[in-house]
Amino acid sequence: MQENIIIADKRPSTQIYASWQRQLSQAIRDPATLCKRLNLDDSWLPGAATGHQLFEICVPDAYLTRIAPNDPNDPLLRQVLPVSDEASTPQGYVTDPLEEAEHQPVKGLIHKYAGRVLLIASPACAINCRYCFRRHFPYSDNSPSRAQWQEALDYLRADTTLHEAILSGGDPLAANDRQLAWLVEQLENIPHLKRLRIHTRLPVVIPDRVDDALLGWLAATRLQKVMVLHINHANEIDQAVIDACTRLKQAGVTLLNQSVLLRGINDSVSTLATLSERLFEAGVLPYYLHVVDPVQGAAHFDVPDEEAKTLVKQLLEHLPGFLMPRLVREVPGKTSKTPL
Ligand SMILES: *Cc1c(COP(=O)(O)O)cnc(C)c1O
Ligand code: SF4
Repeated sequence: MQENIIIADKRPSTQIYASWQRQLSQAIRDPATLCKRLNLDDSWLPGAATGHQLFEICVPDAYLTRIAPNDPNDPLLRQVLPVSDEASTPQGYVTDPLEEAEHQPVKGLIHKYAGRVLLIASPACAINCRYCFRRHFPYSDNSPSRAQWQEALDYLRADTTLHEAILSGGDPLAANDRQLAWLVEQLENIPHLKRLRIHTRLPVVIPDRVDDALLGWLAATRLQKVMVLHINHANEIDQAVIDACTRLKQAGVTLLNQSVLLRGINDSVSTLATLSERLFEAGVLPYYLHVVDPVQGAAHFDVPDEEAKTLVKQLLEHLPGFLMPRLVREVPGKTSKTPL
């Protein structure tokens, strides 16, 4: 059992917090601390401060320990350290690149593809990734209350063509287990739903998130369970992550991974091959490799299509077919991801 720790903060004092919640509440949330902890030169501070104003820093310790100190090019650091490039606004880079605002029949529910809907189960994340396409998402408008969940559940109940509910966010596992267990119980009472899919980075960012409370409701549901982790680099997979994946598999969860192809982080054949190999060691299969969405503040991560296609072609020569992620992009208005 995880030890539950009560912490004094703004939240109601009667509530008991899990280890992962305490770790999240203690995450680094300012540029100076991040640079100091990693022994980065002061020259990184102004850029970090600029980016931080646009999208605040959030890096929990469990993730920080996988970043090498003294190395501004560390592939994990580059995912979380804001830089001055984020302030540039090239043409074609927008704040809602996926035009999701147009596909929300009810609050907190996005229905774009046949047979499956996406539910915004939590507005929060455990880490703020600089390339995130949701960095401008109006989460405060999209964090449904229970009454609003009823509307989303009614929508799911009414459409018998829906077989899969996808919990997304933010990071859905940033919600507490009481709320999640309630939501999943509502979902499993909808007879035509077969699958529960969870898109999350939390088991990677704070492996202690995979605790008994989470495993309890996961193991109990009749729904088939798929978890899509978001891992971009092999260095993110340490022993604690492998152990968390093992616990998830023991609870009957199928584990997949999606990555984003990021300039300076994983845009090489050897880095991508190592990532696939390492994922499989953790019991996770590669699913998608996304090109960066044209979101304002992330243009410097962009890898041009031609280069991305060449990389994947070369990757084919290094990996068995089942370790090959599919290179895709999300195009607004399309009824599926678009293969490149
Ligand atoms: C990506 C996405 C899905 C899931 O697509 P898959 O190809 O099934 O992984 C579902 N709904 C929305 C709105 C999405 O953006
Ligand atoms: S939604 Fe995913 S990619 Fe975006 S900040 Fe949260 S964890 Fe990172």
